Amino acid sequence: MKVVILTLFPEMFSAQNSLGVVGRAIGDGRLEVSLINPRDFAQDKHKTVDDRPFGGGAGMVMRIEPLLSALKSAREQMSGTLVKTVLLSPSGVVFQQVTAIASLSLEGLILICGRYEGLDQRFVARYVDEEWSIGDYVISGGELAAMVVVDALARHIPGVLGNKQSIIDESHLDGRLDYPQYTRPENAAEGSVPGELLSGDHNKVRLYRRREALRTTFERRPDLLTQQLFAVEERRLLKEVIDTN
Ligand code: SAM
Repeated sequence: MKVVILTLFPEMFSAQNSLGVVGRAIGDGRLEVSLINPRDFAQDKHKTVDDRPFGGGAGMVMRIEPLLSALKSAREQMSGTLVKTVLLSPSGVVFQQVTAIASLSLEGLILICGRYEGLDQRFVARYVDEEWSIGDYVISGGELAAMVVVDALARHIPGVLGNKQSIIDESHLDGRLDYPQYTRPENAAEGSVPGELLSGDHNKVRLYRRREALRTTFERRPDLLTQQLFAVEERRLLKEVIDTN
């Protein structure tokens, strides 16, 4: 999969593109990330990419022309037709695990990072397919949001995570949060590891993890549970959670 990111601060991506899961995905050739700076397309000698908002008010607005030239350059890099252009924006729909997984069926994704007070709306209306928000707060630029999107995507590219089970078990994949994890030592001043995990009985471990995942979800994000259909076993485990709460 190929991701092209339009950003005024391409330097911010150097750590992500060389380290960790994303760095490995790029290194293995499973993910391609390229960066385009709209400032490189600015026509005047000061390389201006922003201007004052019509109607007045604080801050600056990103101008259409450098953005459009950068977008054309991004589209030239994309061979296929299944390409989506996404603006990172606090006014967008909230980016979710399912959004990341659905995006993997695309041949390419163009992510546009806003700065200042955002982009000229005429550019957004004409060239942006979707707007994605990473949460209900405002950050200073779309770069951190684009990194969040790229990381969440990379984890789901086949072969990127060594152990397939890591993504199957993760929070949000099936509308539940993750179960708690423990490692050595078995007994510590802070407590002991739950007996089921030490039993060596795969079914006990499975049921423990399912129940604790339901417990965490019930306690912290009950809204997720109202969107679910439960199998008989899960209904029983959920009842146990509710009864012991
Ligand atoms: N004036 C805008 C508003 O109030 O909605 C905020 C602009 S913000 C300072 C600059 C840029 O940061 C935005 O254009 C967007 O690209 C990015 N950004 C800020 N918060 C974001 C969020 N929650 N999710 C995704 N992108 C965000």
